[in-house]
Amino acid sequence: MNTQRKEDASRLRQEIRQAQAAVEGHVNRLLSMRGVLKGSIYEWKRKCGAENCRCVRGELHRSWVYSCREGGKLRKAVLTEKEMHNWRGAVNAWKAFRRERGKVVEGQRRIRNLLRELEEDLRVEVPRRESRESE
Ligand SMILES: [Zn+2]
Repeated sequence: MNTQRKEDASRLRQEIRQAQAAVEGHVNRLLSMRGVLKGSIYEWKRKCGAENCRCVRGELHRSWVYSCREGGKLRKAVLTEKEMHNWRGAVNAWKAFRRERGKVVEGQRRIRNLLRELEEDLRVEVPRRESRESE
């Protein structure tokens, strides 16, 4: 192994350790999470269609809607104010969960690529000599 490759290998080991520590941090955050809910919650503002309603004057009817796509189908539910408060945290937790999970996958991919480079740098050179057998 030449000097350049030794330096590369040492730099790679350090990068791999750092990437590994970062992945561990993301995994630990994932393991500490509770109560996640896939989907989103938004406020739905609408006019009801009645002629003399306040919504005609611009005071739209408001309600909270939970929506989620499952197996290609969009599921929607109108929420009470209380449900909205209870579920919003879980929806935010789910978003954070997905973000962290993505970072784990990304970090693992990076480690795999660095290991491939390390393998290349660690490879023992086989001396090129003419074999007697071929003579
Ligand atoms: Zn109305």
